[in-house]
Formats: sequence, structure tokens, C-alpha cells
Amino acid sequence: MPEPLLALLCAFGVLQLALFSTTVYLHRFSAHKAITLKPWLKITFRVLIWLTTGVKPREWAAVHRKHHAFTDVEGDPHSPLLLGLWKVEFLNALYYRRVARDGVTVDRYARDLAPDKLDRVLFDHAFLGLGLGIGILCLALGWQWGLLASFLHAAAYLLINAGVNSFGHMYGKQPYPNTAHNLQFLALISSGEGLHNNHHAAPTSARLALNPGEIDTGWWLIRLLVMTKQATVRLDAPVFKPPKSAVQVS
Ligand SMILES: [Zn+2]
Ligand SMILES: [Zn+2]
Repeated sequence: MPEPLLALLCAFGVLQLALFSTTVYLHRFSAHKAITLKPWLKITFRVLIWLTTGVKPREWAAVHRKHHAFTDVEGDPHSPLLLGLWKVEFLNALYYRRVARDGVTVDRYARDLAPDKLDRVLFDHAFLGLGLGIGILCLALGWQWGLLASFLHAAAYLLINAGVNSFGHMYGKQPYPNTAHNLQFLALISSGEGLHNNHHAAPTSARLALNPGEIDTGWWLIRLLVMTKQATVRLDAPVFKPPKSAVQVS
């Protein structure tokens, strides 16, 4: 296989690992406790997050819970309605970091996710994880192609996650009465996260596809894990306000 194609395929594969780990572990498991996972899976996801994103789960969960507490009002860490669409799309990581490291948000919103021994020894050292991840790609592909694959993965990961916070609060369908939007295309490239209006309507639901025709590939992975008895769903019958149309009818 030609080296550029192999590098592209590796970047895509690593990106998928990072995106599925983000939606299943960081979002649905850590932040909303919508699912439970077998211990080996928790460790696997923590390693994947460490190697492919540099994100600390308790920081991610805290910033995200604050977003739910102050959605598109003063206090929202990354509202495009307050900050502007393109600022959130391209500077999302900076906004995230500012709130994650403000010394208040993690204590207030992620008290239940205190660091354990593995965090202190390994997972809290973000640059070590990212360095190892890049090193593995360089060993597999040669350093030039390894660095290129790492760059492509990082750029796509940052832009797609930012897209949920930016476009996902500006454009798309709004079947439920909140300020987020459903974008099926964004959902397809973000393992389901683009169904963001649904998510704000039912934040503790493990399933983000709530209406006919919607596709949530993160939920497909969770279903597979449930079928093989590696995970359980705490809430798959979402509790949310009725769609706008239903409100209008009544
Ligand atoms: Zn949102
Ligand atoms: Zn959420």
C-alpha cells in the first residue's frame, strides 16, 4: 500500500478511536453517567483517550456539565451565540482549557470524578500520552508519515468536537425546545454527537437518536457492548419535554 494512503488510513482509524471514546466514555459515561462499563473497558477507554486526545476526563466532564448548566447564557464555556460561531469553531480548545483550568469548575462540577492512582501516575500527564501516541504512529509509518497522520487526526478531532459546540448550537433541526440543533451530517462524523438538540432535551439518555431516520453510531457501539454484556444502559427511555409540534397541538 502506498505510504500516503496508509498514513491517511491510520489518521482516520485513530480519529475514530478518539471520537468513539469521547462520546461513549467522556460524554455518555463520565459526564452523564448514562451507561456503566466493565472495568477492563474503562481502562481501555482511559488509555485510548490518553493516547489520542490529551484530555483529562474529569476536566472534560466538568466543562461539559457547566455547558449544560449555563447553555447559551452567561457562564457557558463555549456558546457561539455569545462568542460567535467561528471563534468557537476555531478556538474551542482555548475556551475549554480556560474553564478547565480556572481552579473552580473542576472542583464544582466533577467532585465525583476525583483522580485515582492511575491518573496521578499516568493519565494526568497529557503530553506523555500524546507523545506516546505520536511515537507509536511514527514507529508504524516512519517519522514523516507518522507526524502527518498525527497532525491530520488532531486537526480533524479538534474541528469536529468544536463543530458540536459551534454549528450544533446554530444550525439544524430543533425538534425539542432548547437552543441546540440536530445536524445529521455532523452526527455521522462525530459518532452521534451532532444530534445535539436531542441531547440537550434528554442529557442523561445514552441514546442520542430519538426520532425516525436519525443515526447515532455511538449508540450502535453501546448496543454492541450491552449485547456482549460489557456495558449496561442506565437510561434508554429518555425523559424529555415533548417535541414542539406536540406542544403546538396540545
Ligand atoms: Zn450543547
Ligand atoms: Zn452532554
